[in-house]
Amino acid sequence: MILITGGAGYIGSHINKLLNQNGYETLVLDNLSKGHKDSVKWGEFVDCDLGDEEALNDVFNTYDIEGVMHFAAFSSVAESMEEPEKYFKNNFENTLTLLKVMKEHRVYKIIFSSTAAVYGIPEELPITENTLLKPINPYGESKLMVENRLSDEAEFTPLKYVSLRYFNAAGADFDCEIGENHNPESHLIPLVLDAALGRRKSISIFGDDYETRDGTCVRDYIHVNDLAEAHLKAYQYLEQDGSVSDIFNLGNGTGFSVKEVIDVCKEVTGVDFEVKIEGRREGDPDFLIADADKAWRILKWTPKYDLNEIVESAWAWHQKLHGKK
Ligand code: UDP
Repeated sequence: MILITGGAGYIGSHINKLLNQNGYETLVLDNLSKGHKDSVKWGEFVDCDLGDEEALNDVFNTYDIEGVMHFAAFSSVAESMEEPEKYFKNNFENTLTLLKVMKEHRVYKIIFSSTAAVYGIPEELPITENTLLKPINPYGESKLMVENRLSDEAEFTPLKYVSLRYFNAAGADFDCEIGENHNPESHLIPLVLDAALGRRKSISIFGDDYETRDGTCVRDYIHVNDLAEAHLKAYQYLEQDGSVSDIFNLGNGTGFSVKEVIDVCKEVTGVDFEVKIEGRREGDPDFLIADADKAWRILKWTPKYDLNEIVESAWAWHQKLHGKK
């Protein structure tokens, strides 16, 4: 079976569903510090902290684990600036424990959930896997430290890995069984949908003086189901004899500004709401746009969903989550 650490979280739960639909057995491991038990609707579940080596050893002794998809991590950039130690402990040190236990049990396949935050403020666009790695916050730094560790391990042990650098994950399961539910929420689309639902009075745009077409930041939004599909393909790639460890960007290759995202949300929801312009948020680059050509060439992965479908699925889920449908 495949072990999914952090499988009760937003992205991990979508992959859990897809793996089960494709005939894989899964074991979700989560300490439920951020994830939700009711998002674990497929496979088996174990409540365990990745930092607890003994408990992790028990898990590997009890279940027949053939590979790992590793999502368990803190993922708020702002929080990482305030409490960096927490990020290095949870995201990096706990991954070292996971790798140690994997090695002891001869489990040599891992898909790692990385991020575009490893690039910091990119020096070229679109961003390829060879763009300079220069994270500007502890969150991105902690993910890059894991990537580097994986690369070392793969050189000196039988471990094979794929690191997937996501751009802006968004959207939800089209059956509305699972979706985004962070507490507190900091991501643009769910916050805008909160405004559409009347759960907040307005939405704030963090800065309209960027060097972009309308002054607001441009991001590459990718549907969570497209991400899930990429994980499945990456895992199948690792299952092939002769495949080598690798790193891939996952994005749509198209950028949308904050204002454009808000407009699409207004159109999809049919609700108008107040939009305020506020000061810049620290550490936001003007543009983040992926060149995901390598994932196409090697994994034969290409995204299926556009921003409209992302917002439509997120809106259906958001209404259900907050009891409005
Ligand atoms: N953003 C915004 N208002 C909000 C939340 C986010 O203007 O209430 C902007 C943010 O500054 C960034 C973009 O929306 O330019 C996407 O932010 P998000 O936090 O969703 O993802 P990130 O790009 O930080 O991973």
